[in-house]
Amino acid sequence: MNVLVINCGSSSLKYQLINSDTEDVLAKGLCERIGIDGQLTYQKAGEEKEVSQPAMPTHKEAIKLVLDALVNPKTGAIKELSEVDAVGHRIVHGGEKFASSAVIDDDMIKAVEECNDLAPLHNPANLIGINACKELMPGVPMVGVFDTAFHQTMPKKAYLYGLPYEYYEKYKVRRYGFHGTSHSFVSKHIAKFLGMDINNSKIIVAHLGNGASISAVLNGKCIDTSMGLTPLEGLVMGTRSGDIDPAIMEFIANKENLDIAGVMEVLNKKSGVQGISQTSSDFRDLEEGMDKGNDKCEAAIEVFSYRVAKYIGAYVAALNGVDAIAFTAGIGENAPLVRKKVMEYLGYLGISIDEEANGHRGEDLLISTKDSKVKVCIIPTNEELAIARETVALVK
Ligand code: ADP
Repeated sequence: MNVLVINCGSSSLKYQLINSDTEDVLAKGLCERIGIDGQLTYQKAGEEKEVSQPAMPTHKEAIKLVLDALVNPKTGAIKELSEVDAVGHRIVHGGEKFASSAVIDDDMIKAVEECNDLAPLHNPANLIGINACKELMPGVPMVGVFDTAFHQTMPKKAYLYGLPYEYYEKYKVRRYGFHGTSHSFVSKHIAKFLGMDINNSKIIVAHLGNGASISAVLNGKCIDTSMGLTPLEGLVMGTRSGDIDPAIMEFIANKENLDIAGVMEVLNKKSGVQGISQTSSDFRDLEEGMDKGNDKCEAAIEVFSYRVAKYIGAYVAALNGVDAIAFTAGIGENAPLVRKKVMEYLGYLGISIDEEANGHRGEDLLISTKDSKVKVCIIPTNEELAIARETVALVK
């Protein structure tokens, strides 16, 4: 079965065509600057990337261009569109309505629209992608896979904020968590990789990318995660602050003469390791800066790693122990320095690092020593494959 996986943002759209039987990626790419000028990147498996600048006034034209590229007689991955058997859409926020992926129909779309309030930038963009596919590929089954769904098993004590209860009742203000597709995929995968019984396991997943979050997974079910109502909570990220004293918002607003939107812009886009280092949000640049003696780059790496270690400590308490820890996403998969710093804080758990293995990147790998009490692994995430698997499971 061929599944087209679509991840639609407000001005961009990432796609992959996956053969779900072999789990091979047949083609992938991205549309950027939708509604501005438009750029299409297309890459068939084993071929060079092609980049072109066709007009892309809306997501509908963008998806049409992707479909045309997929069936292009010279470079297409398939001969005709009927070879796309299903479409899997990433949807950011499913609120409390979706604890798992769902087949897309009119009722489902309405339920997603009702969650728009909770993700005003993301959900409407996801829905535009869904509607465009509906128009261009009528009759092809589609599935929505939610970033929040995996975390819906969190108990009330983990998802309630210390706020007036009526905000939860009236507005559904609570912790939801994100990156759920990745946390689900990686927690299952590490159990398989280590030969553990997932139904009898305590796993912590550290998804450390530009956006970063951690989850505590007990017997395959999420019991806590670091992101909240929005992805701003939790770890220090590329440009997001993560947890701060909420009173800082008023303090900065007064000092810098900013309104709420202005403060939110600072917390989302100008903070995190970018804000601390005043250099970059990218750990490659931060490490380079640190090696050249830049104190702010070093501070950014230290603050980031310390926060990750503190969250892991908290989740060991939530799980009352831990069997395995997985590092994943851009930093988790590729930054030995961060992994080493985090693991050094966790010596009290009986974790010892295999320095040689930790030097590797981007592959399933045990990076703790054989006698380490807790197994620590690099587990590359694959959200597109996870979406394709979910899609197949629901449409078959
Ligand atoms: P997102 O999906 O949230 O955009 P990714 O999971 O792709 O993020 O992670 C991107 C981040 O991964 C980069 O900003 C960078 O900090 C980090 N990263 C990628 N490659 C490396 C590397 N070789 N060494 C250190 N950090 C890396």
